[in-house]
Amino acid sequence: MSRPMVQGPAGAVSASPGEASASARLDAWLNDRRQAGALFLDVDGTLLDIAESPTAVCVPRELCAALECLHRRLGGALALVSGRPLDDLDRLFAPLRLPACGGHGAQWRVHADKPLQQEAAALTAPVRERLQALARSQAGILSEDKGSSFALHYRAAPAAGPALAAALHALLGEPENAGLHLLPGKMVFEVIAHGSDKAQAIRRFLAVAPFAGRRPLFIGDDVTDEPALALMPELHGLALSVGRLLPGASAVFANPAAVRAALVQAAGGTDR
Ligand SMILES: [Mg+2]
Repeated sequence: MSRPMVQGPAGAVSASPGEASASARLDAWLNDRRQAGALFLDVDGTLLDIAESPTAVCVPRELCAALECLHRRLGGALALVSGRPLDDLDRLFAPLRLPACGGHGAQWRVHADKPLQQEAAALTAPVRERLQALARSQAGILSEDKGSSFALHYRAAPAAGPALAAALHALLGEPENAGLHLLPGKMVFEVIAHGSDKAQAIRRFLAVAPFAGRRPLFIGDDVTDEPALALMPELHGLALSVGRLLPGASAVFANPAAVRAALVQAAGGTDR
């Protein structure tokens, strides 16, 4: 489990030793003078509390201010790494536009002024129709068509999870759907049209300025974040998880509120 080796900074918002350790590690990493850092942040379940539906999330103003400040302080090397499409991220964090990867690596932008790059094609119409039909087959399943991926949220119908998983495995087992991938998340299944993941997305960022040559830190909470968390030790980076200690992570934040508090404190305490 988490190893509280570092004393948390005075005044840190922390409910447990593991959380104090995560805040302290973030702080120490940001203040490391030996090598500049690049900060990669998952969004839902990490920066933002998970809501009943993806459109119902709340983005606190102080979080945007902290992200803007840290983005500036890191010379632009701060990116959101999300399963949401980039348009959605821009809408949520407006007027802030950050470097970002959307669709679990399907789209990315290294700078707010740089054009969007797109790796994945959209799911085909027949597949989308099948997934829509699956969503309609049971009350409480919310569908979200993201173009290169399609999410089925069953938060409002938790009992539907196993049947939904079985139906999706059957669909993806059909020969014509061999190129599709199933990504399970928190009360959501996502079918994606590409093999990219958040680890590959972070590698792409680290290959170009202003991210290249920097020591990465990734914070994530979910199974879709695991490839990126597991990549950090290999790159001599730091991985912190949220809610539970995931493979590759060296400490854990209790919840998204603790992540926000640590980022707000880091931004406010050092950018003046
Ligand atoms: Mg997440």
